[in-house]
Amino acid sequence: MNSEILKKYAKLAVVAGANVQPGQLLVISSSVTDWQFTEYCVEEAYKAGASAVMINWNDENISHMNYEYQSVETLCEIPDWYEEKTKWEHEKKCAYLHIASRTPGLLRDIDPEKIKQASLASMKRMRKYQAYTMNNLGQWSIVALPNPKWAKIVFPDKSEEEAVQALWDAILFSVRVREDNDPIAEWEQHDAELLKHCDILNAHQFKTMHFESSNGTDLKVDLVKNHIWVGGGCKTPEGVFFNPNMPTEECFCMPDRNNVNGKVYATKPLNYNGKVIEDFWFEFKDGTVVDYGAAKEVEALKALLETDEGSRHLGEVALISYDSPISNLNILFFNTLFDENASCHLALGRCYPENVEGGIEMEEEQLAAVGGNSSMNHVDFMFGTPDMKVTGIKEDGTEVPVFLNGNFII
Ligand code: ZN
Ligand code: ZN
Repeated sequence: MNSEILKKYAKLAVVAGANVQPGQLLVISSSVTDWQFTEYCVEEAYKAGASAVMINWNDENISHMNYEYQSVETLCEIPDWYEEKTKWEHEKKCAYLHIASRTPGLLRDIDPEKIKQASLASMKRMRKYQAYTMNNLGQWSIVALPNPKWAKIVFPDKSEEEAVQALWDAILFSVRVREDNDPIAEWEQHDAELLKHCDILNAHQFKTMHFESSNGTDLKVDLVKNHIWVGGGCKTPEGVFFNPNMPTEECFCMPDRNNVNGKVYATKPLNYNGKVIEDFWFEFKDGTVVDYGAAKEVEALKALLETDEGSRHLGEVALISYDSPISNLNILFFNTLFDENASCHLALGRCYPENVEGGIEMEEEQLAAVGGNSSMNHVDFMFGTPDMKVTGIKEDGTEVPVFLNGNFII
């Protein structure tokens, strides 16, 4: 990748993504393979006035070796200094930038129990520190860079070199970085557009969203009362605006877990636990999946639905215009950061507490009482189509067209 474009992307990540403030500490996590991009990010951070930049380097192959050779006991051991370091970063009110370059299914050959134990140990120890990013107490952002293994999974028919180039092109297109544009200005406009849609939807407070398309989808999704549509950037309590995900195209909300009815056909394959489920559909009655089918990997779909009770209910509904950059690429990235932004989607499983008034302070039971879903899963699947019609229905029965021919019309 030429250095001018790489620098442009680095500036976008630091300024529009993490939006590091003068005098603030920036903590970057990055793969050693992405050292050049990371170096550019550090430079941009200092130019933006960062007091210091710290890097947590990682290496996928070493991560794999750790899982392969270390005992479960060793993997579960979280040193005190690690906790202290995180605590210190939060006391410093740092910003985080994650440069992700992950190979899908990297740990596929590792005993799932080993992975589960290790992540459980880390979750238990570090849970109290999660609120920092979960509740947007400081800025955080994730951007992605290609790697050869990931590229070959996305473009199996191309040579490694061509695949990496193709993945680069797709990523840069998704995050609106071109040779002849100002991506930061484009993101400001993009965020404003997403916010406008959320504001209009929030003012309507629809009871039901009705989705219809010619492929047979006819689904009524009720939203919880006092729901909040969320999209684009977020603000810290101090009012610093940042973009947690780059790219992002969605306005998402909380479905009522007990009031979803009708049939929905997926329009893109779903990569679940290393299996690619194709041409699948669900039928909902009173919020529960009562019937389903798939042309390929129906067993994986069954396993997903049987994970727990919450896996048969919806936790998220997201609106994305069919004519979005990612959708127009028509690529399966095998990476949620991109794939969930390709089209209107629903998620089976856990809801996002930020999608209901006061949700962040609610206990699990309170969230369930308002209609929020809980589950170990949160699995997004796409169902947007070029002729998707979405109608918002108010409490008094008034209908408002929201989508026509796959795109927002509000
Ligand atoms: Zn989503
Ligand atoms: Zn989701």
